[in-house]
Amino acid sequence: MKMDGWRASARRILKLSSRPAPAPRFAPGRGNPARHGSLHRSGGSCRGTQFYFGHKQPLSVHLHGKECALGVSFIQSQCFGSVATKIQRNPEFATINSDDIRYFRDLLGEKNVIQDEDALLAANMDWMRKYKGSSKLLLLPRSTEEVSQVLKYCNSRCLAVVPQGGNTGLVGGSVPVFDEVIVNLGSMNKVISFDEVSGILVSEAGCILESLVNFLDNNGFIMPLDLGSKGSCQIGGNVSTNAGGLRLIRYGSLHANVLGLEAVLANGDVLDMLGTLRKDNTGYDLKHLFIGSEGSLGIVTKVSILTPPKLSSVNVAFLACTDYLSCQKLLLEARRKLGEVLSAFEFLDEQAMDLALNHLEGVRNPLPPALHKFYVLIETTGSDERSDREKLEVFLAHSMEEGLISDGVVAQDIQQASSVWNIREGIAEALMKAGAVYKYDLSIPVEKIYDIVEELRNKLGHLARVVGFGHLGDGNLHLNISCPQYDDAVLAQIEPFVYEWTSKHGGSISAEHGLGLMKADKIFYSKSPAAVQLMASVKNLLDPNHILNPYKVLPHSLSSP
Ligand code: FAD
Repeated sequence: MKMDGWRASARRILKLSSRPAPAPRFAPGRGNPARHGSLHRSGGSCRGTQFYFGHKQPLSVHLHGKECALGVSFIQSQCFGSVATKIQRNPEFATINSDDIRYFRDLLGEKNVIQDEDALLAANMDWMRKYKGSSKLLLLPRSTEEVSQVLKYCNSRCLAVVPQGGNTGLVGGSVPVFDEVIVNLGSMNKVISFDEVSGILVSEAGCILESLVNFLDNNGFIMPLDLGSKGSCQIGGNVSTNAGGLRLIRYGSLHANVLGLEAVLANGDVLDMLGTLRKDNTGYDLKHLFIGSEGSLGIVTKVSILTPPKLSSVNVAFLACTDYLSCQKLLLEARRKLGEVLSAFEFLDEQAMDLALNHLEGVRNPLPPALHKFYVLIETTGSDERSDREKLEVFLAHSMEEGLISDGVVAQDIQQASSVWNIREGIAEALMKAGAVYKYDLSIPVEKIYDIVEELRNKLGHLARVVGFGHLGDGNLHLNISCPQYDDAVLAQIEPFVYEWTSKHGGSISAEHGLGLMKADKIFYSKSPAAVQLMASVKNLLDPNHILNPYKVLPHSLSSP
């Protein structure tokens, strides 16, 4: 079918780039509260650093219908593993006493030492309300020196610590398991410098991603990463999880964009690696150890990051495909025909669309009702409006002719673009609203990505709803299993099947969310024993008392000193 035919028949090819002026604040979620409206910051006493989802009232955590035994000496992480894993509180760790509180108050000032129950409740609970600790102390340091003193003291007292950013992590890494001291970086939220020639931004770790997005927007630049949680997550948390997100296909991971960082080790030593050079091959590049180590090796306090210039021409297309093979072929075509302007390639299946339509306010399918099995969101970003538009038109026409697309729209203004991005970015929230959800974040070779969704669907039948969506351009599937409540019978069907399947097909059990508490014991599905042993040695070297984020990342058998 020719481009004109596609236009005439659908009358839905509308050009964003033909808008009168270059789009200000266009990227997903920018200046659009609806896009991240579900991530609220509480007005509580902890200086705007705690977040809750939806309702603010305290919630008890149920593990398969049973009240979680908080404050006792073990937890049963039944929700998260096929075999119930009992985690013992490490008896080597001390418990907070009045002398500790006095020390922290003298160091940080009274208002930065939080013992208030409401504030602690928010800091103890993760975004999914699935993981809940029982910490009695939240600290809000304002400088690297304060972080250093806090860790030095905790190490000397053997007090366990959880580094916390925006608390939007999805693997139970950002909240305590027992009574660990929470150290939240939210008060360290200053931009330190920005070089308009190189585009290098240096900031404190507690800067909220969206604040940096807005800061850069005013300077004609963008962040190289974009996440649905941008209104709450912090750059230190992003670096510590090596967050991927919606622009990785274009700009690469944070291992590519972070030029330097400053981190405080468990003993309080400050490691200054805050370089701003693009090239520096002097010895081991130690900063990479901290990118993605989920707060288990040190607390990241400052970050230097290379940011790309903002480009004026942005197009967003929302397309329907009849089968997964078409999505896959479309990706190949997009890479070939859109090349350097391709900035996002996201996909969702009809189950994900259905959830978004049923559980998110104001979300509607821009395509007429039809039995579309898959949807693909493509964004292009470039500097030449005319040629970018032509590229997209040629690509769409060709894809129609080849039968890869069954229907589609191209947004004609920022609102339309924003509204299709809302569908994709709202799926996590829709899943939360739909009931209990088992979440898996997998890297799988693109040609096999949807096989696991179908196999699991067959396996589970009517027991649960299996939903597939994610960053197809990066080979990253978000596999979600939604059911009315957590259920051992369902979990037994899912695990270890998902991990075994992923491992067998050469995938990774954590594409971008990390291992946290959820998958600490599953690391061997993706990494060799020798590699895990070396990781444990690095941990022993940098944090010999294992006070930093205990019970997370590494298998529990290796995580005691
Ligand atoms: P937290 O959740 O507070 O912490 C995450 C981990 O990092 C914890 O282990 C914590 O101990 C550690 N940590 C935090 N700050 C520091 C620090 N300064 N120093 C050392 N360790 C630290 N993730 C993606 O990768 N891609 C996505 O597209 C994406 N989309 C999301 C959409 C939604 C709606 C939600 C709720 C989450 C999404 N996430 C995504 C997951 C999450 O937002 C990211 O992992 C994010 O990078 C976490 O940042 P944070 O500041 O909230 O960190």
